[in-house]
Amino acid sequence: MQVTSGVGGTGVVAVLRNGSGPTLLLRGDMDALPVAEETGAPYASRVVVEQPDGSRTPVMHACGHDLHTTALVGTARLLADLRARWRGTLVAIAQPGEEIGQGARRMIADGLFDRFPRPDVALALHVWPELAPGRVGITPGWWAANVDSVDIAVYGRGGHGARPQDAVDPVVIAAQLVVALQTIVSRRIDPLEPAVVTVGSIHAGSKHNVIPDAAHLQLTVRSFDDAVRERLLASIREIAQGTCQTYGCTRPPEIAVKDEHTPAAYNDPELARGAGALLAEVLGAEAVAEVPRTMGGEDFGVYARTLGIPALLFRLGAIDPASLSGPPPSLHSGRFLPDADPALRTGLRALAHLALWQLGAPGE
Ligand SMILES: [Zn+2]
Repeated sequence: MQVTSGVGGTGVVAVLRNGSGPTLLLRGDMDALPVAEETGAPYASRVVVEQPDGSRTPVMHACGHDLHTTALVGTARLLADLRARWRGTLVAIAQPGEEIGQGARRMIADGLFDRFPRPDVALALHVWPELAPGRVGITPGWWAANVDSVDIAVYGRGGHGARPQDAVDPVVIAAQLVVALQTIVSRRIDPLEPAVVTVGSIHAGSKHNVIPDAAHLQLTVRSFDDAVRERLLASIREIAQGTCQTYGCTRPPEIAVKDEHTPAAYNDPELARGAGALLAEVLGAEAVAEVPRTMGGEDFGVYARTLGIPALLFRLGAIDPASLSGPPPSLHSGRFLPDADPALRTGLRALAHLALWQLGAPGE
């Protein structure tokens, strides 16, 4: 196995050539999150890192990416041991930067598909707290959303809080804008098309009795369909400009769509059906569930979009609901703790069987 590190930053690419046949991409993401671990596990993270702004923050694998990378390494080892049972090329990649939606893009920009064999199909898994260990979930078609981040700056004219008649209050304008933005999904988008506009951050001012000069909003915008995405972004611009004009802003708003867009991810329906049938044989029919799509984002979709190849990411059961008194801690929670041993066993079996299936498995 030929291993190259430092691809697209800290990415790792392992290539195992085993005669002529298809090329399979297996992807495990490996980044953590700036969340303090509260699981109480004996192996809980105690790592503290420096942020780009110089502040220090505890980090943990709150999205289970450590388990993904472990499953990736285990599957690559299994396939190396079982090379008499398949033909082709395995490209196993450990990807950084999934949480910031940049890792896949950076690895591709650093020559993932030029310096290494070009895949015909791509597979990955993601732990899923709503499925018990031993189970897997499959979603045919679109399964993760387009994610856009939008910054809006609203400009008024500051002044004394007791003399609003002399000022243009950006706080009130921003408040109107937050409400007006909610009419995009309710009034402008087909109700049968999923879409979300969330204002996750709003900042203005520093004191009770001072009207500030500006207000800043940060939005996350979600969709599946690219035409819906365009309509959402165009509507945000229109409504922000119109609101600012209506309330007499001192200059037009600044609206910046961040270029960290994560495209919606698609599970090839035929691949998903075949994988579901195979995993039902391997794990038992009751172990395979069809799970609904999510408005969450995943940059795994970038690989298939870039090459126009089929791809599948399946969900891996991680937490037994019987072991909890309430609902399971969600992904990105400081209390997210997958039941690692059974989840990993199932992940390895599923990923290895799917890989052997895609790589011909001669003689089986
Ligand atoms: Zn994740």
